Amino acid sequence: MPLVPAHVASLTPYVPGKPIEEVEREYGISGVAKLASNENVLGPSPKAIAAAREAVERANLYPDGSAFLLRNAIAARYGVGRDEVFVGNGSNELIELMVRTFVLDGEEVLTSAQTFVAYRLAAQAHGRTLVEAPMRARFHYDLEALRKLLSRRTKVVFLANPDNPTGTCFPEGDLVAFLDAVPRETLVVLDEAYLEFVDGAGYQDALALRKKYPNLVVLRTFSKIHGLAGLRLGYGFARADIVEYVDRVRPPFNVNLVAQAAGVAALADEEHVARSRELVLSERPFLLDGLRAVGAQPVPSQGNFVLADFPGRPAKDLFEALLRLGVVVRPMHGYGFPTAQRITVGRRADNERCLAALAQALGA
Ligand SMILES: *Cc1c(COP(=O)(O)O)cnc(C)c1O
Repeated sequence: MPLVPAHVASLTPYVPGKPIEEVEREYGISGVAKLASNENVLGPSPKAIAAAREAVERANLYPDGSAFLLRNAIAARYGVGRDEVFVGNGSNELIELMVRTFVLDGEEVLTSAQTFVAYRLAAQAHGRTLVEAPMRARFHYDLEALRKLLSRRTKVVFLANPDNPTGTCFPEGDLVAFLDAVPRETLVVLDEAYLEFVDGAGYQDALALRKKYPNLVVLRTFSKIHGLAGLRLGYGFARADIVEYVDRVRPPFNVNLVAQAAGVAALADEEHVARSRELVLSERPFLLDGLRAVGAQPVPSQGNFVLADFPGRPAKDLFEALLRLGVVVRPMHGYGFPTAQRITVGRRADNERCLAALAQALGA
């Protein structure tokens, strides 16, 4: 009798960005710039910090298992019914719950190759068949190829828009054409973790499409624009019966008390959201230009990060050279981009430091 099922034995764990403390310890340096995990470099909203401090005084109490106030706040902010909102321990948990709740043995999970790895890990961890459509040229989702891979067994489709790690978007027209081809029994999970950083034309958030396509599930997160990655708080919008089934499967206290309070306050702090968005929109072109200037080939991005290819430079080597210079980025060889790094957009000083380190590492 094996200790674990074959699909668990063959799993490789998620590799997160290196924590600052670990880099400082290993390399004997301080003042490291972490541009590895698409975190908000401005930190959390001051109002969210105050709410979290206040809430931690009540940490002897279990949280509200229904997250009543938080779900109300999200519903009011986005103009949907409270019964169409669900929250999770990061949107990562919601990704897991979509598979655990809805994908039966023998059914398939469909997504793009080279996209956010959590979709693949969720399918594999549950022993479900994963079908991946290759990306098309220039680092874009191929919705046409995805459509051709739809089968009678496809239960959940995961689409990231904007995508991580490429930073590219597909226009609403392409999404609509795809949704038109999907059977109503197939759930399409649209992950909009980076929605707030989009400035391209032809892309709108997909909430309005839910009326016409009741099988559309939209995921969002407090980890990026709201700067609360460490508290683990994600949310989503889905048909009330979908929310209700997820409710049966999720752990009863999946979102902790501090995160619930901080989330309500963060949502109301429109000034912090605007400041965070403006920083990325103004620094992203600076980083892109700087990357081109050091000889990289960056992919134009709609996220708070840039995927940059360094032809002839194996990702792991360049990543380690940058680490020694106190700059942490994310090497992308694990995603099938053998010479690419993903770099979070920082403040001007972070970006300058990163570009200077790149120039030095590439010149050496
Ligand atoms: C960062 C990210 C998320 C957010 O995950 P959390 O679990 O909410 O921190 C979701 N989807 C994508 C594509 C991401 O890059």
